[in-house]
Amino acid sequence: MTGAPRPRGAQQDAAADVVARTVRADVRAVGAYHVADAAGCIKLDAMESPYGLPPALREAIARAVGGTALNRYPDADPGALKDQVRDAFGVPAEAGLVFGNGSDELIHLVVQATCEPGDVVVSPWPSFVYFEMAARQCHARFVGVPLREDLTLDLAALVEAIRRERPKVVFLAVPNNPTGGLWPDEAIAAVLAAAPGLVVVDEAYQPFAGRTWMPRLAAHPNLAVMRTVSKIGLAGLRFGYLAAHPAWTAEIDKVRPPYNIGVLTRAVLPVLLAHRHVLDGHAAQVCADREPLARALAGLPGTVVYPSAANFLLVRFPGRGGAVHAALKKRKILVRNFDGSHPRLADCLRISVGAPHENQALLEALTDILN
Ligand SMILES: *Cc1c(COP(=O)(O)O)cnc(C)c1O
Repeated sequence: MTGAPRPRGAQQDAAADVVARTVRADVRAVGAYHVADAAGCIKLDAMESPYGLPPALREAIARAVGGTALNRYPDADPGALKDQVRDAFGVPAEAGLVFGNGSDELIHLVVQATCEPGDVVVSPWPSFVYFEMAARQCHARFVGVPLREDLTLDLAALVEAIRRERPKVVFLAVPNNPTGGLWPDEAIAAVLAAAPGLVVVDEAYQPFAGRTWMPRLAAHPNLAVMRTVSKIGLAGLRFGYLAAHPAWTAEIDKVRPPYNIGVLTRAVLPVLLAHRHVLDGHAAQVCADREPLARALAGLPGTVVYPSAANFLLVRFPGRGGAVHAALKKRKILVRNFDGSHPRLADCLRISVGAPHENQALLEALTDILN
């Protein structure tokens, strides 16, 4: 036994040594998911709703939370909540449901339940980064099939990759993040027909697209439809759901951490679902503001605005995407910079549709920056 405490620096070095030989090399090699500090900023970088909840609804939530038993684990079976979610979001009665702590968790559970090391996960690319992260973390091989130059789906290449790679899982974000494009129904049907495993249609932005595969679950034994409440005003809640044939959800449920949906979420959700019209109203406002914002952005010097069925717009600023991003940040307007992330996204910024005064501030800042 050594009596004297080791100096602090030596202890830290010792920890770093153990970490270096214990933590997976691929984990040590990547950076942590970066979230920008948003204090005092106009926040158009994360596809959140710009609208908070009205005071009466906040009070109803406070009452619901006040009645929870925080000393107890949540009930094993959130049966009543599943029925409420079915009713509110049109999940077919015969489909199974799995709840996730955000749909990020569901993406992970799907890969965990399906992929042995070396199995393949396919998605059109660029798309939602977490598809690739979840695959890598589970030792699956991720194959991204490049979108065409104009950021539309290359269906022939996608079907060819599915035939070649025999993926366990195909992820289709519909509409796609970060491009905003809505893949045609016929293309999704072709992917379902070609895929030997599960096809997850990720409908995170469905409320802004007005189209869904949810009613077609019964017709496709290899289809799962995944949704989240994050983009309709509840990003802080962390709640997503996956619907598929009960044979799928029974297996995916086995890798779910038993108490992943806490008592606070379970208490708050029914109140929110009973006031769906508030959330729907906010989403409708965002949809109404999207096209005018797209037109105004397209009218700025040199910009290319891509068609979007989501609550954001992907905008290319040829030759100066990074500079525009930095200049906006200096003016305390946060948007997401995709320049350098993928060749197809050179000079591209992703901009959430904000409240009207925020969109106005963005346009004024951009007018100033670009002229
Ligand atoms: C935002 C997003 C998600 C993640 O949603 P959470 O429920 O907040 O985890 C999933 N898929 C896509 C395509 C997204 O853009």
